[in-house]
Amino acid sequence: MMMCRVATASGSAENYAERPPLPLDTTISVRDGDTVYRVHHYLGRWSCSCESFRRIGACWHIEVALKRCRGAEELTPASVAEAGVPDENPYVARNVAFRQRFQANIQTLRPTFDQQKPHTLWIGCSDSRVVPELIVDAGPGELFVHRNIGNIVPLPQSGDDCLSSVLSYALHHLPSVRDIVVCGHIDCGAMKALLNPPSAEAEPGLVRWLAQIGPFLAPTSNGRAYLRALIEANVHLQLQNLQQYEAVRERLRSGSLTLYGLLYDVRDGSLQELARVHDVEPTPPVGSAQDVGYEPALVSRQRRQS
Ligand SMILES: [Zn+2]
Ligand SMILES: [Zn+2]
Repeated sequence: MMMCRVATASGSAENYAERPPLPLDTTISVRDGDTVYRVHHYLGRWSCSCESFRRIGACWHIEVALKRCRGAEELTPASVAEAGVPDENPYVARNVAFRQRFQANIQTLRPTFDQQKPHTLWIGCSDSRVVPELIVDAGPGELFVHRNIGNIVPLPQSGDDCLSSVLSYALHHLPSVRDIVVCGHIDCGAMKALLNPPSAEAEPGLVRWLAQIGPFLAPTSNGRAYLRALIEANVHLQLQNLQQYEAVRERLRSGSLTLYGLLYDVRDGSLQELARVHDVEPTPPVGSAQDVGYEPALVSRQRRQS
């Protein structure tokens, strides 16, 4: 059997049977003048790192690579070394499959090339399991995303320019934005940190960050049910915080904005609605956590400030 010796995505030389199937995930370097391009074969599709492939999805490097792979020109470890297989960047390598899907759907995606027109500002947690576009099956151009520890909306007077600039851009420069989502999630590390605070000496930034919600969410126990209540109360609190921004209130009054409070379950991928706000809500009354309706965790802001 003829063998095709190629460089795998990890950069090492391996032997593969020549005729179908071709190796699942293979990178072959092809020299063109002074430049070495990486030709990638993945699940029956070919791609190349050259400009021609990026622009029109075709180039002659792929034919050369295929020819080599078919055994017309065996690629030895020496020739691989000579061609100078560059250290594969792991992110660029993993981009290949996405880029192929992207280019296969380029007609659908073209409207997003010139100008973004997202329908939603999504405020979510940085947790790696809570991926906004995956959760709501959205494509490029749909969600304008801000993520931070604990999906927190700092108050306007807090001096936080990160969230406020995202909010400002969404509401002043993206007229397509009609919804703002605050999405909390099950097993949120930020909410756990409220129950078991980190050391202020070791993590001063994190402690300061959480301090802006801690006083309004009153943890009293460590139970699992309590953590769930805390996560939900935090979403409600951030919806309230959003309404402290004049731009949000204006858009709510004009009926051109809806706020959603959502809860994502990392265990089963389900999403549920906790709250929907169409108009500026009355300021929660002074009273106990139970009185303001977010039992058991959300404490009225006035009460805490008094
Ligand atoms: Zn090419
Ligand atoms: Zn989280």
